[in-house]
Amino acid sequence: MDKVERWPLYVNGAFITETDRDPITVDDPAHGTPIATVPAATDDLLQEAIAAAERAFPKWARTPARERANLLWKAAGLMRDRQEELARLLTREQGKPLAESRGEIAISAEYLEWNAEEGRRAYGDTIPSAKPNQRLYALRQPVGVAVAITPWNFPSSMITRKIGPALAAGCTVIVKPASATPLSAIALMKIFAEAGFPDGVVNLVLGPSAHVADVFLADHRVRKISFTGSTEVGKTLMAGAADTMKKVSLELGGHAPFLVFDDADLDLAAAGVIASKFRNAGQTCICANRLYVQRGVVERFSEILTEKVQALRVGDGLEPGVEVGPLIDERAVEKVDRHVRDAVAGGGRLLVGGERVFPTGLSRQFFAPTLVLDPPRNTLSAVEETFGPLMPMWTFDDEDEAIALANNTPYGLASYFFARDVGRVIRVSEGLEYGIVGANEPVPTLVQAPFGGVKESGVGREGGHQGLDEYLYWKYVALTF
Ligand code: NAP
Repeated sequence: MDKVERWPLYVNGAFITETDRDPITVDDPAHGTPIATVPAATDDLLQEAIAAAERAFPKWARTPARERANLLWKAAGLMRDRQEELARLLTREQGKPLAESRGEIAISAEYLEWNAEEGRRAYGDTIPSAKPNQRLYALRQPVGVAVAITPWNFPSSMITRKIGPALAAGCTVIVKPASATPLSAIALMKIFAEAGFPDGVVNLVLGPSAHVADVFLADHRVRKISFTGSTEVGKTLMAGAADTMKKVSLELGGHAPFLVFDDADLDLAAAGVIASKFRNAGQTCICANRLYVQRGVVERFSEILTEKVQALRVGDGLEPGVEVGPLIDERAVEKVDRHVRDAVAGGGRLLVGGERVFPTGLSRQFFAPTLVLDPPRNTLSAVEETFGPLMPMWTFDDEDEAIALANNTPYGLASYFFARDVGRVIRVSEGLEYGIVGANEPVPTLVQAPFGGVKESGVGREGGHQGLDEYLYWKYVALTF
């Protein structure tokens, strides 16, 4: 893909290469160069997408779950066949190392497979009646047209984690991917078309995001909004959905604490910090954002961790051996820089990194993996998501203090700790006010587990059997004969 290619939208089974709006340009963050343009949807096209999804809904909802599952398996198979091609595309538009992109494509396909089977198990209830001539039962039915709005940090898996359960449940879908990374989503649309999904069952639009979202929010035909992104935008969508009382699920920002207790295996814990913090250059919602280490082991632990951070290779994600790619854009680099400078200016000790790096021939969007010891307790990275490769680190004395520090935030998505004492492992797991706890586990995301947050990190779950619930409602039937 050396020239700037034109990529299409997908509405009602048709690929649309042009509209009369200015197209959106997609850049390769490693090189800072444009790689593709995608048309922005006109209001008419947004209306057409809603109408197509609504028209396709009754038949799709009535299609036996097994047939829906077969199509999802077919799409997943095509994704697996094209894993390398899709992974390279993902790295081109998003920047993450190729090995991570391959992993993302694999889990994206698995979300389709898992949900294909969950859709076949959308069991209802029978309820005993007080009357001999009455039967009571409860069915689970698809909510209707679902809109999926997704972020740029996982351009493929955030899509299938939503449309997998939606389609398996019998909903039709309109996807609105992030403007920075729509190509992986469009590549998925080509796969869904090839797999044979009927026209209108899956659609993709792009455009000025607040406006596009407003069109969907105002429309009573859209019955569900599933959003992954920042807490700020999530709140506006939740408020906007109230008017037409749509079902919402929101996967929002995190501010994950990572606790290392004095009985932990320190090598494993340090490897855990590397996996949790520096994956995707620190741009995941479940990235460790605050590291707290028990006083007795802090010196030893910071030595081990510093060595590991120093060894990380920064560069173009397509180059073999690179572990940390570019940040998504200049604004993201500035935020990391601001957080680092604030931590150091307040007295934090820079252990490694601390500045931008400029690999030869690449863009200016790289930042060195950074560790800062003991910045002020109220430094910027202590109170908000950095979304980049900075790990601030503090000490604590006991379990209660560690839990209190970890919970001292309005966010509640993921949390991590390393410890070996069984009682401590149970107490800390239960004391953390988070939707996800990684106990000696830095990478907890799995298709079979319910992923999601509490507090200002969102509502609803994706994955597990719970993921399907977000696209179904209970219908109670009282039958008297
Ligand atoms: P974002 O700015 O909230 O964008 C997410 C999506 O919302 C994009 O499609 C974006 O479109 C759209 N959007 C932006 N402004 C909007 C508005 N005013 N109204 C409606 N839609 C709007 O978030 P991001 O920067 O892409 O992603 C990073 C954030 O996502 C972080 O906070 C991260 O923690 C969170 N995240 C959470 C999870 C989770 O599972 N909880 C997973 C991944 C990421 P455009 O790109 O076209 O503007």
